[in-house]
Amino acid sequence: MTLGRKASIIEVTATIGDSVQTFVTDRHHHNTAQSLDQKRLVKQLLEGRQILETINKPEYTEDGRVTPWHHHPAVVMWKGHESALLSYLTAIKAEMVHRGYKYEANWDAILGAMTELADKDMIGAGNPSWIVNTDVYDNVIATHRASLYRKDSEHYAEWCDEHGDVCCTACNYYWPGHVA
Ligand SMILES: [Zn+2]
Repeated sequence: MTLGRKASIIEVTATIGDSVQTFVTDRHHHNTAQSLDQKRLVKQLLEGRQILETINKPEYTEDGRVTPWHHHPAVVMWKGHESALLSYLTAIKAEMVHRGYKYEANWDAILGAMTELADKDMIGAGNPSWIVNTDVYDNVIATHRASLYRKDSEHYAEWCDEHGDVCCTACNYYWPGHVA
């Protein structure tokens, strides 16, 4: 009974973890936010929250294992650049406000995690290298556009010809810092 329950929790975590992505479809976060369909726009705030809450936990558990998600590429790509993630999430939130979606619970959790990180002096400033290097940034954007088109070819019809180079054959995206 206990084992079965534990297994199902792990399964759920794995499923969520596999789908975590902070979509960037444009060099400007405001344009990214505007481009996203309702489901994915709402999801970005939740995923940003989960990334910040993960960064806020120690990298290793007390028994020496990696804290779940800590090495997930979506966490790795923002770790050390939490203020950049916050500006991304601020644009997502602004678009949610504009469209009249509920954002309060996830936003409060995001600000809470940022406050705790600030207290620990753990907020990295500046943009991550995958944003600073515009060639890499444009490639990340292209793989995200291509993925969104695969998920919803109607909403993202304008990106039918987007491809970009994925990081490795196992991935559908170019994950910065993911070396095959
Ligand atoms: Zn990869």
